[in-house]
Amino acid sequence: MSKVPPIILNNGIEMPQLGFGVWQVPDDEAERAVATALESGYRSIDTAALYENEVGTGKGIAASGIDRDQLFVTTKLMSTDQGYDRALRAFDASLERLGLDYVDLYLIHWPVPSEDRYIDTYKAFEKIHADGRAKSIGVSNFLPEHLERLIDATSVIPAVNQIELHPHLQQRASRAYHAEQGIATEGWSPLGQGKGLLEVPAIVAIAQKHGRSPAQIVLRWHIQLGNVAIPKSVTPARIKENINVFDFELDPEDMAAISALNEDRRLGPDPAEM
Ligand code: NAD
Repeated sequence: MSKVPPIILNNGIEMPQLGFGVWQVPDDEAERAVATALESGYRSIDTAALYENEVGTGKGIAASGIDRDQLFVTTKLMSTDQGYDRALRAFDASLERLGLDYVDLYLIHWPVPSEDRYIDTYKAFEKIHADGRAKSIGVSNFLPEHLERLIDATSVIPAVNQIELHPHLQQRASRAYHAEQGIATEGWSPLGQGKGLLEVPAIVAIAQKHGRSPAQIVLRWHIQLGNVAIPKSVTPARIKENINVFDFELDPEDMAAISALNEDRRLGPDPAEM
């Protein structure tokens, strides 16, 4: 079984470079999917209040019998719960649904600049962090302009920004800004949601060359860029395939061929509008 190497966050905490995402997994299937992922060697799980599967995710974690300190659990604050007091209450509710007494990473799911509450929200996150109930705090879908404002107005630099990232949307400006600020880049929809990306001829050719699947090639590209990736699947064979990316390497030509696929094309919403 491959062991997932960690990256070191800006607070010294280790985060597995590959995790398991559970968006769109119904609550009553999450327990089994999470259990399969943990049996397959994943130690990092990415859920959110919005996914309505924190209960099933928590059950999968509990059933695994793996020591809590060996796991890295992320959840996220729903946009409708932004604001200082609401965020504190929403966090309590997430912990309760997960059946945990702390999370490893708590993220603001979307900036929602039109409502302008992410600074107050993040101040609640700083309190949760100071109380030891979220070992790391961060954001998701923040543009550099949102991060800049946040960093000016608060004291804990986000450990992570989780953003849509795949070969068709390579996010070079955000990645460069994160690197400058010491913020880890975590890619969501790392496989481009399994849609056309895995049939792109350049990726299929690299897959044939290495005797790997297109999904493994794309995940390996994320790993070699130094990002965190959180692929999702409910199919046991794919769950296993997606973590089996630590025993081969893409060469510089492969990396360049994938880098040439950028189209700045989003699958999800534009954070400036969410
Ligand atoms: P993904 O890129 O991980 O693609 C998942 C889909 O790809 C699967 O449903 C399946 O159809 C296909 N797939 C998976 N493994 C495959 C394989 N080995 N071969 C062929 N096809 C395969 O997309 P995602 O679920 O959108 O993103 C992953 C995770 O990112 C989510 O589960 C969630 O945890 C997180 N996420 C976060 C946000 C956010 O706003 N922060 C938004 C979307 C997703």
